[in-house]
Amino acid sequence: MSLVTASGLTKTYRAGDIDVPAIKGIGFAIAPASFVAFVGPSGSGKSTLLNMIGCLDHPTSGTLKVLDTDIATLDRKAAAKFRGEHIGFVFQDFNLIPVLTVFENIEYPLRMVQEWPKDKRREQVLRMLEAVGMADQADKRPDQISGGQKQRVAVARALVSNPKLVLADEPTANLDHDTAYRILELMKKMRDEFRTTFVFSTHDAKIMGEAETTFILEDGRLSQGGSHV
Ligand code: ADP
Ligand code: MG
Repeated sequence: MSLVTASGLTKTYRAGDIDVPAIKGIGFAIAPASFVAFVGPSGSGKSTLLNMIGCLDHPTSGTLKVLDTDIATLDRKAAAKFRGEHIGFVFQDFNLIPVLTVFENIEYPLRMVQEWPKDKRREQVLRMLEAVGMADQADKRPDQISGGQKQRVAVARALVSNPKLVLADEPTANLDHDTAYRILELMKKMRDEFRTTFVFSTHDAKIMGEAETTFILEDGRLSQGGSHV
């Protein structure tokens, strides 16, 4: 059983009068609770691919299934609901809300859904703060913590609503090498603890060894780890 499967997947952007093929026909499968990297240089198609897996953009052709749902069948509203229920996101530039504390940033996704009353929310946020080693920083604001700490908060926020899948597009690009390495170790620990599948992208070949499964993207094609159909 796979959590994500793609076959013959393509994405072509239309820029003015010209077609820009960004993903040129790839196939792959991602197992539940795996720790997966898509590695490739800038422009190779990493963000395009992660955006499609995250139901933020539709494929041009081919099929892409996430949790047995063909994502091409989801309209905007259904895609938003699907993301909210199943997918967490971690970004390169952390995307924390500057006016909220660390605690409030992690709590934020839970405020969107009714099944999380205040005391249950608090309990879940405290659990996440512990898990990412940020319990003693709960009342700080983003500008009072380091880049590595911000990314820890972002990992906690991505996991707070118990998604099956976390997508991280170049989560370590704004971090020094040691911090990058520690963030990936943290994600792997979270995967072990919560059995969440992590899919991250990087242009940094040095950290790809941290992944258990590696797909190499070159100019919209997989040169390692997948198939071309
Ligand atoms: P990466 O994340 O690996 O740097 P991207 O997925 O951002 O690669 O880009 C892959 C290719 O698609 C590049 O040639 C890029 O210029 C192009 N591209 C990305 N987004 C768009 C867009 N919205 N419109 C047109 N071309 C795009
Ligand atoms: Mg990118």
